[in-house]
Amino acid sequence: MSDVRDVIIIGSGPAGLTAAIYTARANLAPLVLEGEPSSTSDQPGGQLMLTTDVENFPGFPEGIMGPELMMNFRMQAERFGAEIQTVKVSRVDLSAAPYGVWVGDPDSAEPTYRAHSLIIATGAQSIMLGLDRETELIGHGLSTCATCDGFFFRDHHIAVVGGGDSALEEANFLSRFAEKVTIIHRRDELRASKIMQDRAFNNPKIEFLWDTVVTEYLGDQSLAGVKVENVKTGETSELPVTGMFIAIGHRPGTDLYKGQLAMKENGYLETVPGRTATDVAGVFAVGDVTDDYYRQAITAAGSGCQGALEAERYLEALHDA
Ligand code: NAP
Repeated sequence: MSDVRDVIIIGSGPAGLTAAIYTARANLAPLVLEGEPSSTSDQPGGQLMLTTDVENFPGFPEGIMGPELMMNFRMQAERFGAEIQTVKVSRVDLSAAPYGVWVGDPDSAEPTYRAHSLIIATGAQSIMLGLDRETELIGHGLSTCATCDGFFFRDHHIAVVGGGDSALEEANFLSRFAEKVTIIHRRDELRASKIMQDRAFNNPKIEFLWDTVVTEYLGDQSLAGVKVENVKTGETSELPVTGMFIAIGHRPGTDLYKGQLAMKENGYLETVPGRTATDVAGVFAVGDVTDDYYRQAITAAGSGCQGALEAERYLEALHDA
């Protein structure tokens, strides 16, 4: 019989690790399955691992770097006894409690762990353009993470694709290194917040290519440029960039729960309004995996706290019964 835990937390961004801090302090000995790095855009610690300055997380008046903030979350959770394993969950079985959680071979008859309650905090991931050779060029001029890779592009001309807060944040950060940053946006209006727009418009190193999409990556071993097309005129041209950052949004990490948990149309997990409870008793969804609206580190952390408190109450009732 595999180990039965009170609570397993899947995911280790602000939501998962806040849930770990709270459940650890409630003596529930949480096990956090934090994920495994599989690419620059997919690593434990969530999206803040791919973020530079975090200026809006309360408690850090001077701001803090995303990876440093996540390291603090992690150390705080471990200080209270949370066990953190760097493994990827391959399957869950939510058909009956205690719920099964597999690490490694998903076809194995026995789950690796069982838990009376699960806190799901598998976040969301970068969306890619889906062009030819995209995967092979990642790490060779193409990136989704300015924090990880910006340093390698000192004095380069860099493109950033997207018109939301992420694109503008990346562009502003990259302008510290780059000779020039061109933001390629498919419309002539940005989706980003006013403050981010003002920063980008006032940054002399940033320019915009409006109504434009990238159609092809140029260069053999590494990126040497991109082909672009103006969507209004159909005119094509080449932009001689040696670095490009894709910042066009995120996809929730919900594959593991398909057919087992209720989801919204856009694939984010559905919860009871204002709560973290899913449609399966004892299974709670926290952070960006369920949040298609706020998507902030602080709201994810708050949601992780809510999930932990709900799990705690659920377990109390279960043990009383
Ligand atoms: P987003 O707001 O969804 O913006 C995605 C951008 O990419 C949009 O401009 C979209 O164009 C464009 N896009 C989408 N698919 C595309 C494609 N296939 N080809 C070309 N362009 C494409 O995503 P986000 O910028 O990642 O932000 C997500 C959420 O996080 C937002 O709520 C944002 O406010 C928040 N956020 C906040 C901060 C901060 O406050 N510091 C930083 C980052 C993110 P259209 O505009 O034409 O749809």
